[in-house]
Amino acid sequence: MADGTETESRKLLGRLRDTLAEDSEGQTRLNRVTHLIADSMNTEVCSIYLFRDAETLELCATEGLNPEAVHKTRMRLGEGLVGLVARKAQIVNTADAPSTKGFRYMEETGEEIYSSFLGVPIQRIGEGMGVLVVQSKEAREFSDDEVYALEVVAMVLAEMAELGAFVGEGAALAARHTNPVLFRGTMGQEGASEGNVYLHEPRVVVTNPVADDPEAETIRLREAVDSLRFSVDEMLATAKGGDKEQMQVLEAYRMFANSRGWMRRMEEDIVRGLSAEAAVEKEQSAARSRLSQIPDAYLRERLQDLDDLSNKLLRTLTGQGNDTGADMPENPVLVARNIGPGELLEYGRKLRGVVLEEGSVGSHAAIVARALAIPLVVHATNITTDALNGDAILVDGDQGIVHLRPDDAVKGAFRDKIEMAIQAKEKYSSIRDKPAVTRDGVFMTLSMNAGLMADLPSLKSSGADGVGLFRTELQFLIRNSMPRRGDLAKIYTKVLDAAEGQRVVFRTLDIGSDKVLPYMKPNDEPNPALGWRAIRVGLDKPGVMRMQLQALIRAANGRPLTIMFPFIAQFEEYKEARAAFEAEIIRERALGHPVPETYEIGSMLETPSLAYAPRQFFEMTDFISIGGNDLKQFFFAADRENERVRRRYDTLNVSFLSFIEQIVSRCNETNTPVSFCGEDAGRPIEALCFAAMGLRSLSMRPASIGPVKHMLHSHDLRAVKAVIDEARQSGDQSVRGAIVKYLENKT
Ligand code: PEP
Ligand code: MG
Repeated sequence: MADGTETESRKLLGRLRDTLAEDSEGQTRLNRVTHLIADSMNTEVCSIYLFRDAETLELCATEGLNPEAVHKTRMRLGEGLVGLVARKAQIVNTADAPSTKGFRYMEETGEEIYSSFLGVPIQRIGEGMGVLVVQSKEAREFSDDEVYALEVVAMVLAEMAELGAFVGEGAALAARHTNPVLFRGTMGQEGASEGNVYLHEPRVVVTNPVADDPEAETIRLREAVDSLRFSVDEMLATAKGGDKEQMQVLEAYRMFANSRGWMRRMEEDIVRGLSAEAAVEKEQSAARSRLSQIPDAYLRERLQDLDDLSNKLLRTLTGQGNDTGADMPENPVLVARNIGPGELLEYGRKLRGVVLEEGSVGSHAAIVARALAIPLVVHATNITTDALNGDAILVDGDQGIVHLRPDDAVKGAFRDKIEMAIQAKEKYSSIRDKPAVTRDGVFMTLSMNAGLMADLPSLKSSGADGVGLFRTELQFLIRNSMPRRGDLAKIYTKVLDAAEGQRVVFRTLDIGSDKVLPYMKPNDEPNPALGWRAIRVGLDKPGVMRMQLQALIRAANGRPLTIMFPFIAQFEEYKEARAAFEAEIIRERALGHPVPETYEIGSMLETPSLAYAPRQFFEMTDFISIGGNDLKQFFFAADRENERVRRRYDTLNVSFLSFIEQIVSRCNETNTPVSFCGEDAGRPIEALCFAAMGLRSLSMRPASIGPVKHMLHSHDLRAVKAVIDEARQSGDQSVRGAIVKYLENKT
C-alpha cells in the first residue's frame, strides 16, 4: 500500500471526524460527508443510502445526483446495484454499471451518465445499516486502495449513525434504537411478561472510531491482543484434560488470537486512520457477513469463535461490559443470541422472560426455561442488534411474539393479558388442595413433570400428586462433565426429601436424539430421533445406567423407589433393564447398603410397537407411562421438533385418540397402571379427552395442574366420551371441533 494513499485515507477520516464534530444538524452533516468523500476520492458522485426499514433503502444524501431525489428514491433490498450491496453485504465495483447484472435505472436521480460504480455496505458488527456509493463518468474500476478506503469510511459512518450523528428534524432520519419493533419468533415456553432488556452480552459502543496517532493505536491493539492471548492460554491450561468440546473452542480461540492475517488486517485499518477498537469492529463485521453466507456448519462455528473473540477484545479496549451482572435492570428479560442451559440456570427465576435470536424449541435452554416457567421466544431474528440494555420489552411466549420498545397502546393491551393470566392463577390456587374429580365422580391423579432442583417447590404450590416424570437427564445436561454417583445420590436424596413420601417417578437417563451431553462424543447419525438413544444407550453401554441405578438406590436409603425406563420398544429391552436394576439391588445389599422396602419398575411407552407387545410384558411391567411427545411423532411419522410437520397432526386426531384408548384397554386387561406424561397432558382440552379415553393419571408441567383440574371439575366424562364417539363415527379427522363446540355450549 502506497504511503500517499494511507495519508490520503487518514486525511479524509480526519476531515470526516471534524465535520461530524461540528455543531450542525443531521441532514447537513450527511450532505457534507458526501461532499467530502466525492472531493477526496475524485468522483462526481457520492451517495449515502440508509435502511428505512428492514427491506427498504432510501437515498439520504448525495453529492452529484439530483438533490430532489433525496428522501424520495427508495429501493427494496436486492433491487438495483445498491440493493445488491445491501442484501449480500458485499462490495460491488464495476467500470460499466449500466451493463452490470442487477443494474436498475432510476430516472429521478439522473444517474445514467455515470459509468463507474463502487458500493460498499455500511454495517456495524454485521448489522446492515445502509450503502455508501461513489460513481464517476470515467469508465474505470476502482483500485483496491480506493475500495479499502471507502470501506473504512463506511465503518466510521456506521459508528456515527449508531451514536446518532445523523438524527435531526430535517434529516427524516429517526434515531436508532428508539422505534418500536415487533419480532415474530417461535414460542419456546408459554406465558406473557413485561420487563426491561438485559443483554447477555451487552453491546459495545465505539465512541472514537477515528484516531490521529496510528502508532499509539497499534500499541493499544497489540497490548489488548497480548492480554487476550494470555487469558486464552490460561483458560486452556485450566481446562486441560477436561471437557473436550470446551477445549476445542479454546483451541480455536488460540488459533485466531495468534492469527497473523487477522492482526495484519487490523493494523492496516489503523494505519488508514481507524482507532484500535474500530479496527477490531471492522474485521468483526466482515467476519459476520461471511458467517451468514457459509453453508458449512463447522466453519460457521469457527467463525462464531472469531466473533466471540472479537467481542472480548472490544470489551478490553473499551473497558465496557466486563461486569455483566452489575447493571441488571428491574424485571430483567434476558436477550441473547443463544444461551446454554447452565448459564440460564444461573440467572434462574430472577428473569421475567428470555428471548433468543437462535435457539430451538427442543434445545436444552428451552427445557430449562420451561422448567423455570419463564416465557421464552426463540428465533427472534436480529434482536440482539436492535435491543439496548434497559429497553422496554414485552414477551408473548404463547404466540412467539416480542414487542421491543412498545408504544402505549400495545403496552395497555398486553397488561390486560397479563392481568387475566394472574386472575386465572388466583382462581386455580383456590382449588389447589381439592381432588381432581370430574362432575360424574371419576377421580384423576395429576402429578407434575420435573427435572431440576428449581422444580421442587412447585410440588406443594401446584397441588400435584407427586412427580410423575423426573427427567434425570437434565442434571446431566447442565453440567460440563459427567456427574459422579455421589453427586447424583445427593440430588436424588434432596428430591425424595422434598417429596415427603409422595411418589416420584425417576426416569433413567434419556439422552440421544436432541439431548446431546456436552461431554460425550456426538454420534453422527442420519436420524438421531430414530437412533441410538435412551434405553438403547443404557443397555449397550451399561456403565452409566448402573451408576445411576446405584445412586437412586442409595438416595432411597430404604424408602420406596419408583423408576421407569425411557423408549422401551420391545419386551426384551424391558426385561434386560429390569434385570440390570435387580442386579444392582443384590449388589447394594451385599455391600451392606439399605435397599428400598418396595420398588416399582415401569416402562415408558413411546413407540407404537410397545402397544402390541405380548401380554407377558404388560404383566411384568409395574406400570406404563405414555410418552406422548415421542409416541405422537412416531405414530404420525412427524418430527416433534419440526414446526412445519408437527402442527399438521392434531393430538385429538381420531386415530391417535383411538390408539390411546387401545393402550389403556390393554393395560386394564392386566391391571397395569397407566399414565400419560407428554406435554399434551397439560392442555386442558386434551387432558379431558384423555380422561374420556380411560386414562386416570396424567403428569404435566406444574403450571398446568390448576387449569387441567378446573377443566375436569367442570365436566362429565360420559358426556365427553359420547361427543368423541359421535365425532369418530361421523368420519371427522379430529374430535377437536366437536369438543370445542360442546364446551362452548356448556359455558
Ligand atoms: C415424551 O416423549 O412424551 C416424554 C415425556 O419424554 P421427553 O419429552 O423427555 O422425550
Ligand atoms: Mg420421550
